[in-house]
Amino acid sequence: MNKTINMANTLSSAVEIKDELIKHRRHLHENPELGFDLPNTVAYVKETLKGMGLEPKKVGKAGLVVTIGKGNGKTLLLRGDMDALPIKENTDLPFKSTNEFMHACGHDIHTTFMLGTAKLLKERENEINGTVKIMFQPAEEIGAGAKDMVANGLMENPKVDAALALHVDPGLEVGKFGYKPGIAASSLDGFFLKVQGKGGHSSEPQKAIDPLMIINAIYSQLNTLVGKEIDPSERAVLVVGKMGGGTAANIIPDSAHLDATLRTLNPEVRDHLFKRIPEIIDATVKMMRGTYQLETLSTPSLYNNAELCEQMSPYIKEVIGENNLEVNNEPLSGTEDFSYISNLVPTMFMWAGANGLEDRNYPLHNPNVVLDEGVIPWGVAVAVHTAINWINN
Ligand SMILES: [Zn+2]
Ligand SMILES: [Zn+2]
Repeated sequence: MNKTINMANTLSSAVEIKDELIKHRRHLHENPELGFDLPNTVAYVKETLKGMGLEPKKVGKAGLVVTIGKGNGKTLLLRGDMDALPIKENTDLPFKSTNEFMHACGHDIHTTFMLGTAKLLKERENEINGTVKIMFQPAEEIGAGAKDMVANGLMENPKVDAALALHVDPGLEVGKFGYKPGIAASSLDGFFLKVQGKGGHSSEPQKAIDPLMIINAIYSQLNTLVGKEIDPSERAVLVVGKMGGGTAANIIPDSAHLDATLRTLNPEVRDHLFKRIPEIIDATVKMMRGTYQLETLSTPSLYNNAELCEQMSPYIKEVIGENNLEVNNEPLSGTEDFSYISNLVPTMFMWAGANGLEDRNYPLHNPNVVLDEGVIPWGVAVAVHTAINWINN
């Protein structure tokens, strides 16, 4: 196969369909939905794929999968996540969100990457000596969508050999890409605590058990934990992001709640804190005469397979240029639920530069973040070119 022609074709084909892809992106951006609850997004993606002559299949609660290629070879999984965040958009974009949610993590662009990739791969299906499987994933932001699709057969029929995902990065220039070999993103453990006290009149505290006092004590204890029990050279972030209870100043409430997240890179650090947080909760609640329910939700750390990254890097560089693929040293302190897939097959998770607007350097998950649509043809060309060449060579 003539790689040079192939590569030039890929980038120019991606640029040719840019306007159509931007239309998809803006539609998704204007109509964000959350978690597994993506009826309009899924319907839109499904119809668009059908219009390309593809047959999207539902996988799990709200995922879609299409397969493209001649089969009988390697199978590469590509991902686009579709869910937004419960953030009220604060930009002045003409296509800003029309509801209370926002695509502040760029999943509208990821979905668009995969719509463009599906279209170009379908046009070149007879060049693919294997299978590209594209997953359109719900519920990444709550760490549950990839897991649900895996549990419902995502990795079989045909069996997936390796996986590739792109994520926009507002801190990286358009046209540049980056990845971190090895551990690439933190694990995430969520703790959801409900403390039961005993409600009563504020004039008779002796007859009540104040659950706000209990969660206040837990809050203080948790905030000393990392500083006092973890080596300062390790990375561990424990944050109580939500707590409360009660309805009025003169009522001691019956119950209160506290939600926290823990992010770590080193499994030993994680194990220690994962044991200590419930111990502290248990001891504190008992000391103060309450009872409690604690639920946890865990997402593993994302792992980039160095060998796969080395195999794919030359194809990526053929599209973006020799000097535009950065190898990062620092893993993401955030979490990515593509980790469920990276635990099963060799995976490459890559950042795609989406910063073309210098005066607007906001991070992901910020209500002001503006991602440059110029990234769209780059992401599509990288995915298409890497998929075809990795499968065929
Ligand atoms: Zn996010
Ligand atoms: Zn994201």
